[in-house]
Amino acid sequence: SAAATPHATTTHLSIDGVTKRFGSFTALDNIALEIQEGEFVCFLGPSGCGKTTLLRMIAGLTRQSAGTLIQRGKDISTLPPQARDFGIVFQSYALFPNLTVFDNVAYGLRNRRVARADIHARVAELLALVDLSGSEAKYPAALSGGQQQRVALARALAMEPGLLLLDEPLSALDARVRGHLRSQIKALQARLGVTTIMVTHDQEEALTMADRIVVMNHGVIEQVGTPAEIYHQPASAFVASFIGTMNFLDVTAAANHQVQLGNTVCDCLPHTFAKGRPAQLAIRPEAVALTRQPGALVGEVTGIEFLGAFQRVSLRIAGTEQRVLADVPSRDSAMLSLKLGQVVGLHLPGDAARLYPAG
Ligand code: ATP
Repeated sequence: SAAATPHATTTHLSIDGVTKRFGSFTALDNIALEIQEGEFVCFLGPSGCGKTTLLRMIAGLTRQSAGTLIQRGKDISTLPPQARDFGIVFQSYALFPNLTVFDNVAYGLRNRRVARADIHARVAELLALVDLSGSEAKYPAALSGGQQQRVALARALAMEPGLLLLDEPLSALDARVRGHLRSQIKALQARLGVTTIMVTHDQEEALTMADRIVVMNHGVIEQVGTPAEIYHQPASAFVASFIGTMNFLDVTAAANHQVQLGNTVCDCLPHTFAKGRPAQLAIRPEAVALTRQPGALVGEVTGIEFLGAFQRVSLRIAGTEQRVLADVPSRDSAMLSLKLGQVVGLHLPGDAARLYPAG
């Protein structure tokens, strides 16, 4: 049936074998990535992982040492920035301070000699989009940081670019404004359908805004996936540790669906580790279940932190020196009447656990 037909996707940008060296240092190592039309993609990773370098390369602001970039079927690898089809918003408000909001947004249109009446209509439309109608005559200095970023966004969209590049556009703003602008940008992007790449080191930003996240580390891509895939099926111990809170437990691979933790055998997702091989079992605190009756695995409560909706319980696994965090809904923990020193049953569901090579 028609409903079962997958959506046809068209590649907007194809990055192939891209490497960037600064002297003997390799900042990006053989990057391959395809971005689809209309997608919102986040480059996420710790400081120095190469995400800004990759974004600047797409813009033509940095030249790759090797590899190609194809945008809508056209090889843009050697084109200067002005010959590429993108709009960009930087972290610091790069508005022209001596121009009004109107003139900032109109700047590119004037350069392109768009008719005066059309410029007025277009700027009005863009300012309405970013919720700044009425601010036309203001100067950037009279605007808040969040408002300045919205002007920068309107200016980046003025030329109707095929690709919107966002270089940590929210990181200079305070938390409340950041949260609000996050949902505004996301809604605007979905409405316009403009292919968007955002660089961020903020995992929450990436998880809430992206259709797909590209997790980078030391110049390589560790994983590309939807926020749920990145969170629930991290492809490496790095991704597992970088996103959210994760327990890592030292175990030994046993049979195909099991691992040995201390003296206890636990289930674990089918894994391909050779029997006897040391490994790390990763499991999220919210997947760890506690029971009043001690079971095969026993934990002693060493800490309880009340966090509203849930309590974060620290436990020492009996018979080992290993620690584990369990997030228990506050209502459940009241029923368990948890206390420091209490001994409880500990359950690590095998389908929520993942196995990585020993660190
Ligand atoms: P941050 O979040 O701190 O900006 P990032 O992931 O964006 O980090 P990049 O700015 O892309 O990282 O830098 C990647 C690596 O390349 C870093 O180790 C950086 O020091 C190095 N690097 C970047 N630009 C240059 C340059 N022009 N010359 C030499 N090294 C550079």
